[in-house]
Amino acid sequence: MTQIKQTLAELVSIDSVSLRSNAEIIDYLERRCEAMHLITRRFPYKDDHGVEKINLIALTADTNEVELALVGHSDTVPYDPNWPEATNLTERDGKLYGRGSCDTKGFIAAALTAVEMIDVAKLKKPLALVFTADEEIGLRGAKKLAEAKPLRARYSIVGEPTSLKPIRAGKGYSLAEVIVRGREAHSAYPALGASAVFRAARLVNRLESLAAQIQEDQHEAFDPPYTTLNVGLIHGGSAKNVLAGECRFTLEWRPIPTQSSNYLLNLFRTAIQEETHRDPGFECEVDANRADSGFETPPDSPLIKLLEKLTGVESGTVAFGTEAAQMMLLGSEAVVIGPGDIREAHRTGEFVPVSELEQCAEVLRESILELL
Ligand SMILES: [Zn+2]
Repeated sequence: MTQIKQTLAELVSIDSVSLRSNAEIIDYLERRCEAMHLITRRFPYKDDHGVEKINLIALTADTNEVELALVGHSDTVPYDPNWPEATNLTERDGKLYGRGSCDTKGFIAAALTAVEMIDVAKLKKPLALVFTADEEIGLRGAKKLAEAKPLRARYSIVGEPTSLKPIRAGKGYSLAEVIVRGREAHSAYPALGASAVFRAARLVNRLESLAAQIQEDQHEAFDPPYTTLNVGLIHGGSAKNVLAGECRFTLEWRPIPTQSSNYLLNLFRTAIQEETHRDPGFECEVDANRADSGFETPPDSPLIKLLEKLTGVESGTVAFGTEAAQMMLLGSEAVVIGPGDIREAHRTGEFVPVSELEQCAEVLRESILELL
């Protein structure tokens, strides 16, 4: 087995599902980094369940400011216990199967291999390896780093399966829960109450109009080229012959990076106010509990130009959230790239093609030598 496959096999053998502590995989990564004479710094925190999570930064110099950061998340999504390959990397037909092989342990194995191939003592500018926790459950680890700011990086290469296509922009991700209240009454006498379901339906109608309205603010780099929104869940009422006392729904939207998360939220709040004028008993609560920003690096950034040259692939955009947004908050021009296909991630049978894994290590090695 080649060195890079061996590294990936070791990473996959450590169960690092987001639910568990990632201490074991961080210990492994720290040992690997120390063997390369990197300086390691741990940033532990307790998650919402009191479980210890650790972000790890490994540096080629004793500094808080680096020229380049390679960023990979150490956690994975859960796996089916009946999938024997999940923690036992298995090669078949040029593909390596296992949980995290593509999202994102393949990138981490490539990054370790790339740094091992170069003489870090000869680098003129500092390099950081950044390993985060809890990416799969809302980019929590990266958000901790973005708040604490233990590092600034001029450029960041963030690992995610993109089939080695450089990604220079991503949409944001926002979420709100909407709770509409009514007054219960026997459905034979509707005048005695107020239906929360009818009220919620009016808001959902307003949102459908807003979805069309926000299409006017366009960002051509994306498909579709505007902020999208979705009401994915709705639940209300207690019985068919009772006016509903409460109705809840989720509002999810993915803002283009040139638009703040609050833009849609403010339009929605205005719509709620108008409904309240029309129906004075109208009662509604909006719990906006997530607003992950998007990211965008200019197409002429030296980082983007370099990765386009090294991969031979034109840069693009994605409609899902990545840690590139947090690296931007840490001062970076960022690009997202990695071996494997995002459509293979999060599934039983997740795999990474060996050829892409090896090419990724080479792209990272050349990126380090060009930029540092
Ligand atoms: Zn991932």
